[in-house]
Amino acid sequence: MRKIALVNQKGGVGKTTTAVNLSAALATLGRRVLLIDMDPQSNSTIGLGLNPHELKRTTYSVLVSGIPAREAIRQIAPNLFMIPSNLDLAGAEMELSTAIGREQVLRDAMNDISDFDFALLDCPPSLGMLNVNSLVFVDEIFIPMQCEFFALHGLSLLMRTIDLVRRRLNPGLAVTGVIPCMYDVRKGLARETVLEIEKHFGNRVFQTRIRTNVRLAEAPSHGMTIFDYAPDSYGAEDYMALAREVAGVPAPAPAPAADIEVAPAAPPPP
Ligand code: ATP
Ligand code: MG
Repeated sequence: MRKIALVNQKGGVGKTTTAVNLSAALATLGRRVLLIDMDPQSNSTIGLGLNPHELKRTTYSVLVSGIPAREAIRQIAPNLFMIPSNLDLAGAEMELSTAIGREQVLRDAMNDISDFDFALLDCPPSLGMLNVNSLVFVDEIFIPMQCEFFALHGLSLLMRTIDLVRRRLNPGLAVTGVIPCMYDVRKGLARETVLEIEKHFGNRVFQTRIRTNVRLAEAPSHGMTIFDYAPDSYGAEDYMALAREVAGVPAPAPAPAADIEVAPAAPPPP
């Protein structure tokens, strides 16, 4: 099982949009995916059509009340499963801070869950206990970045936190992917920002750029992924391309255009 946290302490950069739509795309490619909502804002929970007020078993129940993680998993679609969150999770920051082994509660709780190809974690825009628990559990970190001037600003704090967790608690932890999000093809600034990001992270930056697409912003208010809400949008195209890159699935060969007339083969020379 590949365990991946979507982390960036900066708010509004595309963590949740990526968590929801990358999960859905990987599920469509036939991978069994578990999305864990680690954010008390519950945006990915709402984005997948659940009502946080009606939830009995959540990330909070697993981290604080100690219910088995398996009992909090619910199926959303074929191959797509989730542990949802609600606002209770905001209290977990405080409650975990006095617990013994507080950084490893999630890792222990997920100990017997291995029947997924991917576990993706949608993390909150902070560097508190919920993020540290996520970083201790996962092996890989994907950093979604908004393609704008301040994209790299404040990143050193994130990298220091990752480094500390790696040294003290999770030696295998690594940043394996940076995802350029909200890429506006018309703006030179977006291209320049990606060049800056590539200077910093080299070949760990995904080839796929997630373009700015209003359909991606609309879909969550309908509780739908981009593939259900607007399957023909750029947003759907980009997140499917990202999923292929993540899972190592080659892009399908373009279908031959049906309406191109093929000239008849020349008769063989006499
Ligand atoms: P937070 O830190 O608050 O959890 P986040 O990093 O999870 O934020 P998102 O919620 O995914 O960020 O995105 C922030 C806003 O930008 C949302 O309104 C979302 O719909 C919108 N958005 C994200 N990606 C795109 C995109 N590629 N095109 C257009 N809008 C986008
Ligand atoms: Mg979010």
